[in-house]
Amino acid sequence: MDGYATHEVLNQPGALEGYNAYAGDRALAEAARVFGAEWAGDALHHAGALVGSAHVQHLARQSNRHLPELRTHDRFGHRVDVVEFHPAYHELMGLIYGCGTHSFAWTHDRPGAHVARGVLSYLWNQGENGVCCPMGMTFAAIPALRHDPALLAEWGPLINSTAYDPTPAYAKDKAGATVGMAMTEKQGGSDLRATITTARPASGRRGSGAPYVITGHKWFFSVPMSDLFLTLAQTETGLSCFLATGWLPDGSRNRLKLQRLKDKCGNKSNASSEVEFHDLQAVLLGDEGRGIRTIIEMAHATRLDFAIGSSGLMRQALSQAVHHTSNRRAFQRSLVDLPLMRNVVADLAVESEAMMWMSMRLAYALDRAEALLSRICTPVAKYWACKRASGFVAEALECHGGNGFIADHLMERLYREAPLNGIWEGTGNVICLDVLRAMQREPESVGVFLEEVRAARGGDARLDAYAERLADRLADPAGLEPVARRVAEMMAAALQGSLLVRYAHPAVADAFCATRLDGEWGHGYGTLPQGLDTQAIVDRASLPG
Ligand SMILES: Cc1cc2nc3c(=O)[nH]c(=O)nc-3n(C[C@H](O)[C@H](O)[C@H](O)COP(=O)(O)OP(=O)(O)OC[C@H]3O[C@@H](n4cnc5c(N)ncnc54)[C@H](O)[C@@H]3O)c2cc1C
Repeated sequence: MDGYATHEVLNQPGALEGYNAYAGDRALAEAARVFGAEWAGDALHHAGALVGSAHVQHLARQSNRHLPELRTHDRFGHRVDVVEFHPAYHELMGLIYGCGTHSFAWTHDRPGAHVARGVLSYLWNQGENGVCCPMGMTFAAIPALRHDPALLAEWGPLINSTAYDPTPAYAKDKAGATVGMAMTEKQGGSDLRATITTARPASGRRGSGAPYVITGHKWFFSVPMSDLFLTLAQTETGLSCFLATGWLPDGSRNRLKLQRLKDKCGNKSNASSEVEFHDLQAVLLGDEGRGIRTIIEMAHATRLDFAIGSSGLMRQALSQAVHHTSNRRAFQRSLVDLPLMRNVVADLAVESEAMMWMSMRLAYALDRAEALLSRICTPVAKYWACKRASGFVAEALECHGGNGFIADHLMERLYREAPLNGIWEGTGNVICLDVLRAMQREPESVGVFLEEVRAARGGDARLDAYAERLADRLADPAGLEPVARRVAEMMAAALQGSLLVRYAHPAVADAFCATRLDGEWGHGYGTLPQGLDTQAIVDRASLPG
């Protein structure tokens, strides 16, 4: 009895906690093995235990309840432009950086390092998503910095450090540095050429590494407490990329003013600001006038991280749904044993596993330096994983009945989070157009993609037929713009089918091919046809213990 005079609390599944999100995830551990990241097992088990712990869930809840606050001035009237966070946020930042989630691929020079980092990100996206924003940008900064080896040598070690230090101070006075990115302006986010912020040389020197001052505004600047950030501004030569520190060597704030924090739908623990630059001190990164070319390296890496991130988010929603439906009873049975609920959970499990394999395959493409496959398929994966997340989470939420809709349940937070990855770093349309751009600018990438799909040839006739239909469709990329979404989703389905046929449990591959490739499927989840081994699929998705 827990003290109620009127009733006992019955049939309420407790929280899913105290599990290892890596070791308990059979499909994920298989992907790590298949793609050569098993050697990182200790780091992955460590992160898996953290993410599944009651403590991290507690921190996640606290940091999303006690939101960041902007402090523009100190009590004496000096401008400070800092953001104050709940201690839970800082602890989470320390944990995610401490796992090397942002840097594992850069600090371990061996095959499988990108897959291992991908698994870390997949896990942490099940832990708390606000801290995944700075983590992802810090990871992605390294490819952009490669445009200037001197700047990379100067900042790389601090960026890759696993130390997190929230002190508002010059980056070189700290043991580690976080990285942000400020591109979007009021008049255009997708169309970055509309940027009106300007930069001018601060000395007679020009070229990468030379000092500039920047004046203008940014409508979105997440992680305004970042130690370093990349930004875009117009010079005489055109749109250029710059690297700035949040604080200057004398300890003062760089010349920026935070206007306000955005009141967001999700990702609430993380601060996103509006900012003005008043002669911001920065250095040019890469060639003047080639800013998009420079920053796109960062965007390509963040896009991969968002594909991984949305896949991780879906896995968390699935884990919650499996836990709830396995531990709640109705009509004398566990919910998951009711045939129609089993269909729903199995359908979600197939979707989740397909996303995971696709994301990890693209991390593996970085390990193998498969530039063309990475170029064409990263936007495919970013589009599809992010696009599917909202509907997926809504369905997993419904598996919980009313509990799922209540704000102290994790599902509510996942639901508010789910659309975001589809917006930043390129909205759905922009990403699908990028797939077409890859086809047009690097036509060989289409052949590389089809070769990857056909690696499973003979494994399932439905996949083979689908791949040939898709090959016909891709034969002439001209004129595909109005149907770019359909093209991207077909590419995602073909790639996922190929990976599942090669590597996944046969029951999962069979269900995927029957539904996503052969059309025996409805418009909602829970519409798998009869005759599939849904028990095996659900068993595979459940977390042992
Ligand atoms: C929580 C949050 C945090 C963010 N943090 C940052 C940050 O730290 N740094 C940063 O730089 N930005 C950040 N952003 C901004 C984000 O990257 C932009 O919102 C995004 O790139 C879209 O730009 P926009 O908002 O100007 O929309 P628009 O560019 O106006 O797009 C509006 C719609 O038009 C569509 N569209 C645009 N062009 C085309 C086309 N050619 N064909 C078909 N459709 C098209 C888009 O798909 C979209 O649906 C953040 C956004 C959010 C929500």
